[in-house]
Amino acid sequence: MALIERAPAKINLSLDVLRKRADGLHDVEMIMTTIDLSDRVEMFSLQEDKIEISLESRFVPSDERNLAYKAAVAFKRRYGIKKGVHILIEKSIPVSAGLGGGSADAAAVLRGLNRLWNLNIPLDELAALGATIGADISFCVYGSTAIARGYGEKIEKLASPPPCWVVLAKPNIGVSTWKIFNRVNVDELYHPKTPLVIKALEEKDFPMLCANIGNSLESITCSMYPEVKQIKQAMQNIGASGVLMSGSGPTVYGLIEQESKARRIYNGMRGFCEEVYLVRITG
Ligand code: ATP
Repeated sequence: MALIERAPAKINLSLDVLRKRADGLHDVEMIMTTIDLSDRVEMFSLQEDKIEISLESRFVPSDERNLAYKAAVAFKRRYGIKKGVHILIEKSIPVSAGLGGGSADAAAVLRGLNRLWNLNIPLDELAALGATIGADISFCVYGSTAIARGYGEKIEKLASPPPCWVVLAKPNIGVSTWKIFNRVNVDELYHPKTPLVIKALEEKDFPMLCANIGNSLESITCSMYPEVKQIKQAMQNIGASGVLMSGSGPTVYGLIEQESKARRIYNGMRGFCEEVYLVRITG
């Protein structure tokens, strides 16, 4: 038996770091939405009790360090499954890019194994299990548009953004989320106007959305990697309406209402940056 799950990337419409907790984690408030740039995760049930991952990537390990592997271990342990699974991952989401690719794959494995082995476990339970593996996995279990609180594990659904195009530009570097959070000094951070982003979503107000998207981590990543700032400036100069770094970076995205303008900006950004994508918001 085999089945396929899509694992869509996310962008952050907001990312606020509220405080550092006693356990060393940070309390955050993040509005995320899924985009139509997805990995493909295929799962084959095995009689033998083992987990195998196959994927072709220079940047992602295919052993027990892979988040998809960790998700399968957690799922099998939690539900006492003695069967095995072969997981085939075709990556399209750039790695260490701020687009949550690893979390998306792990969430796809949780949803996929639930279907593969006919367990009918509610999404809320899968999301809680995902949170034991990584902060963004809970959001990825649901997808769509949501606000994540706590360290990212408390999810509340939000209205979808107004329909628009997204140009993604990723400089040729990978950013470690841990390294960026390590530099956070909450008192010095910029804090985005999260309630106004929520209002813009509820009212499907594109200009209001573009004016209020914000990311507490952007200045930290930009100070460490000036190419992120350059790409942001280029995207703004070229005419994207709302421009922001996603997650801990380095990918910068621009929101654009009209398709023709989005294509023009996509083509323009390809002059600055090797990795550029034109996608739509699916959340
Ligand atoms: P986040 O902001 O959640 O850290 P990201 O998009 O910046 O996400 P990912 O692409 O998820 O970063 O990868 C982060 C790290 O996780 C990399 O070091 C990568 O090797 C590791 N990793 C483990 N499993 C996966 C996977 N299935 N896909 C991508 N990366 C994975």
